[in-house]
Amino acid sequence: MRRSTLTHAFAAVALVLGGLGVATATVTATAPAAHADECYSWPRTLASGASGSDVTELQVRVAGWVPRGQVMAVDGSYGAQTTAAVTNFQKAYGLTADGVAGPATFSTIYALQDPDCSPAHFSYAEASENCGKGFTGTAANRENMKRALWRAEALRHQLGDHPLRVTSGFRDAACNASVGGASNSVHLSGGALDLVPGDGATSICSIAKQARSAGFGGIFGPGYPAHDDHAHVDIRTTITWDADVCAGW
Ligand SMILES: [Zn+2]
Repeated sequence: MRRSTLTHAFAAVALVLGGLGVATATVTATAPAAHADECYSWPRTLASGASGSDVTELQVRVAGWVPRGQVMAVDGSYGAQTTAAVTNFQKAYGLTADGVAGPATFSTIYALQDPDCSPAHFSYAEASENCGKGFTGTAANRENMKRALWRAEALRHQLGDHPLRVTSGFRDAACNASVGGASNSVHLSGGALDLVPGDGATSICSIAKQARSAGFGGIFGPGYPAHDDHAHVDIRTTITWDADVCAGW
């Protein structure tokens, strides 16, 4: 509580000082909004104790930066887990790592955000092959896909920004059955991705191993039946990981 009050006091001082400087105002006016307006723009700085739909939108985008072994509770409540995820995101992108989501953090997210709210290096289309039928799911399925893709964006950055390719994402029941998916597969909800390296710099095992630090609850890779040729990652809220032939697993 005390810490929160102090933070707000400093923010207020910064705002007052900023308002006095013409140069600062100019910078603010010309700051790149990137893709902010097409998808989502945050109306305020967010910190521990905040709650609301803007916190939810933030949690979706930093869910791949929770500490290893955790799955982000996308609940609109900015607590210790969101603070840790924002701090890790800030460190990864060279920002001041204070766990408070302000203009610099949002600018970085805007630069990673496409107009349709998918992350920059992945698309809904590539996660909707669905046995050639394209996306046939619900809005909830698409939201799950968005949440999985933002974690994949974090994973990609953690792996050194090398491309990752999605070989399967959302699948309807018929498609899922035809490819031998489990009857309760997370692919049916849109929240699962099968990933393979997009170049020679990564391996399926390195993807599966790093996914443990990218907010994925489900991870299945080499050693798990039928998963030697891809790393399956999904947004289930419990931890179920198996890629046990990978060195260092
Ligand atoms: Zn899969």
